[in-house]
Amino acid sequence: MGLFERDTEIYKNRDALREDYQPEELVGRDEEIQMYQASLQPVINGEQPNNVFLYGKTGVGKTAATRYLLSHLEEDASQYDDIDLHLTFLNCDGLTSSYQIATRLVNELREETNQISTTGYPRATVYEMLWDDLDALGGTNLIVLDEVDHVEDDSILYQLPRARANNNLSEAKIGIIGISNDFSFRDDLSPKVKSSLCEQEIHFPAYDAGDLQKILEQRAQVAFHDGVIDDAVIPLCAAYGAKDAGDARQSIDLLMKAGDLAREEEVTQEQPDEIVITEAHVEAGRHDLERGRIEEGINGLTQHGHLVLYSLLTLHLQDETPIRSRDVRPRYTNFAQRAGRDPLVPRRMRDHLSELAMLGLVSVTERNEGRRGGTYREYTLDMDIELILSALDDVLEDVGIHDSVKRYLSDGESPEGDTSLLEFQ
Ligand code: ADP
Ligand code: MG
Repeated sequence: MGLFERDTEIYKNRDALREDYQPEELVGRDEEIQMYQASLQPVINGEQPNNVFLYGKTGVGKTAATRYLLSHLEEDASQYDDIDLHLTFLNCDGLTSSYQIATRLVNELREETNQISTTGYPRATVYEMLWDDLDALGGTNLIVLDEVDHVEDDSILYQLPRARANNNLSEAKIGIIGISNDFSFRDDLSPKVKSSLCEQEIHFPAYDAGDLQKILEQRAQVAFHDGVIDDAVIPLCAAYGAKDAGDARQSIDLLMKAGDLAREEEVTQEQPDEIVITEAHVEAGRHDLERGRIEEGINGLTQHGHLVLYSLLTLHLQDETPIRSRDVRPRYTNFAQRAGRDPLVPRRMRDHLSELAMLGLVSVTERNEGRRGGTYREYTLDMDIELILSALDDVLEDVGIHDSVKRYLSDGESPEGDTSLLEFQ
């Protein structure tokens, strides 16, 4: 037997849960798709396309709906000899200026051997190249600018939709599809950009638990073998997804995590169709994903952020929380000195407490000072202690292990041999 053996007990097609998978049908977006389709209809009629603007939070199906409709549009347009349709799909994540967008577009339209450098030209020159290339191509051009909220200046968002009106294009017809995850982006656009870019607006609302459940059921059918999922699993993933942000991506990730944990357990099915993914896997999967999110958050903090968090953690273990910032201070000062760092002034230290609160690691309560008036804030740790400790291992090394942590760790030792799912190291 080889070292690797194919395991297909649980998954029929795990890739169907990945980010890049395109579902054949979208569930529960009929109204939005209908509006979207109507906006694209002029393309099939051989008319000048509309500019369309989609907005809604992450994971609500904007990109999926766009890919779905554009692939149908491309296929259906090919039935008509007089339609010459060119689609350009650009994700603007990482492209912050109109200049970068314009050079990328030029290169998307050009052959491999004829690419331009992404720096060094005056912006007007790049725009000229773009108009020339589009006109040379002719036909109908749909340009998708996904995650367009990353673009910080709106020159290109004005120039592209108005290219024909401004006589920059004579041959090519052009339509822009702008997609934004950020609600405020649309409101912050200048009126002249808004009126041309947002000719047709389609809002994608967040999903509720019922929507998410249908999406997950559809995806699970493709990804898993029949009967391997407990009936409670999908409603649970959907409920968490609705509670978090109504984001289908997060819910699908949770389902995949649960499937992976079940697979890692190496429980093999004694009989076909035996249930192997349970609610416990979802709970454990959620914990894992949460841990990843928290570790990422903690890793993104400065060393002083870590010192403040470590201080609060030890005070928490000593039952001193909720606690005021000024009472955290002596511990923080001590830890900073032990780590060989100058302590920050009180106000800057308090900023770090606020940042920890924003990350969801710490919760804050406003209190009234009593008869003298005024308010103050109290902080308490709001996160699994072991998660924080494992993310703080660098600072633990610099400062040393505080007594409260030592005691916590020796008390918390779990009996040997118990490897139930809900336990984590
Ligand atoms: P957005 O672009 O709004 O951030 P996506 O289109 O990337 O969101 O959707 C996130 C994930 O959820 C993708 O994997 C997508 O296939 C899936 N998804 C979203 N909406 C639906 C839906 N209505 N039906 C099926 N899958 C969906
Ligand atoms: Mg998207």
